[in-house]
Amino acid sequence: MRPAAVRGPRKSDAPSDQGCGLGYAPVAMDLRDGPEDVAFRAEVRRFLDENVVGEFAELKGRGGSGDETFGFEVRRRWEKVLADGGWTCLGWPAAYGGRGATITQQVIFNEEYARAAAPGRVSILGEGLLGPTLIHYGTPEQQARFLPPIREGDALWCQGYSEPDAGSDLANVKTRAVREGDEWVVTGQKVWTSLAHQADWCFVVCRTDPDSSRHKGLSYLLVPMDQPGVEVRPITQLTRTSEFNEVFFDGARTEASNVVGGVGDGWRVALATLAFERGVALLGYQLTFRRELDRITSLAEANGRARDPVVRQSLAQAHIELAIMRYNTLRSLAGIDGPVAPPEASIAKLYWGSWHRRLGELSMNLMGMGATVLDGEATPDNAGYCLEDLQRSFLFARSETIYGGSNEIQRNIIGERVLGLPPEPKGAR
Ligand SMILES: Cc1cc2nc3c(=O)[nH]c(=O)nc-3n(C[C@H](O)[C@H](O)[C@H](O)COP(=O)(O)OP(=O)(O)OC[C@H]3O[C@@H](n4cnc5c(N)ncnc54)[C@H](O)[C@@H]3O)c2cc1C
Repeated sequence: MRPAAVRGPRKSDAPSDQGCGLGYAPVAMDLRDGPEDVAFRAEVRRFLDENVVGEFAELKGRGGSGDETFGFEVRRRWEKVLADGGWTCLGWPAAYGGRGATITQQVIFNEEYARAAAPGRVSILGEGLLGPTLIHYGTPEQQARFLPPIREGDALWCQGYSEPDAGSDLANVKTRAVREGDEWVVTGQKVWTSLAHQADWCFVVCRTDPDSSRHKGLSYLLVPMDQPGVEVRPITQLTRTSEFNEVFFDGARTEASNVVGGVGDGWRVALATLAFERGVALLGYQLTFRRELDRITSLAEANGRARDPVVRQSLAQAHIELAIMRYNTLRSLAGIDGPVAPPEASIAKLYWGSWHRRLGELSMNLMGMGATVLDGEATPDNAGYCLEDLQRSFLFARSETIYGGSNEIQRNIIGERVLGLPPEPKGAR
């Protein structure tokens, strides 16, 4: 796979009359693996074939989106197996304990991981969000203290951004931290905090200047979760599981040195973390999507609905759109060596979130009235999947157009920063 070598010109490079209005000239992409990619792919495949066995094989295909609570302790052990093999933190530079893998290698790893249906990762927030943030903004002491436990699969992190009045409008954060001697004392409420009930630490965006407003006066604190001042209350989701939580800080304490990027610099650091949120993992998702679409296609064949021309058209459309998603992701990853930035990140998020939601609706339609009753038996069919998997995926997909920036927010970004449309009027919220 050699997309980097064939990157088209970026918007700023392109003459204004070129391409499709976004400023991209059409370019040919060579999607075949080069010789080094072939060897790397074989190495990943061998590791997964040899290690996704025993209790880990029982978790094949489990623990992904909407299924985060399944087999959690086994998946924590799996994280250690990955770490022992040197397969965590692939994209981190070697100087920070990572593998220094190229984007192409990371894509290959994610593809092979999805192909092997290896257990869902439990440390994505530490490895994918906090780690890169610390590498860019942390002090050497913070890097030495916090990066190794993430790489070894020993420390789990959660993301303390959203609050009841600060979701899309993150600058409205009200959780505050006050300096007392050698410590920060944190008070306030976070919400929708994924895996807070499992996490050892939380990266918290909070207000350290009481007289500030909006994005000024915020700081990015690292707060231990196991202490009397932290209460985690699970929220039961549509899927009947509790992957996320409310988190109450009531005099929670953390060392004064646990500020990333400096006191009052939290907005800049928080935005940097968000930029890491999406990227190479997307190609891995797409193989999972492919498997789901194949399951839905076989379901339609098994129950005779595939003979219906409208159903056939819907399935064909879903296949076409999934192929477009893959090519567009490869295009957006081509030539980058860091986080995927707008417009690519917003276009990709809007596209995949909406596509997956529609796919869930299609699978529900194909299941007919039975889809409205949860398949409590969870009995796998001949293809090795349960109707419950599709039901759970349908239900969880509702959240995929919300988290990581809702569809409306992505459209605002595309409109304002890509198409140059007039900005949203101040006070419109
Ligand atoms: C499964 C899941 C996991 C999550 N995990 C975490 C986590 O680990 N940590 C964390 O901090 N947060 C997490 N979140 C929270 C997520 O980031 C927020 O839900 C998201 O940012 C939206 O914020 P909100 O829910 O407050 O909705 P609001 O911001 O109140 O939005 C409500 C509606 O208004 C629309 N809207 C808002 N502003 C605008 C605007 N300017 N223009 C047009 N429309 C607008 C939105 O699109 C939405 O439809 C998670 C959410 C989900 C669903």
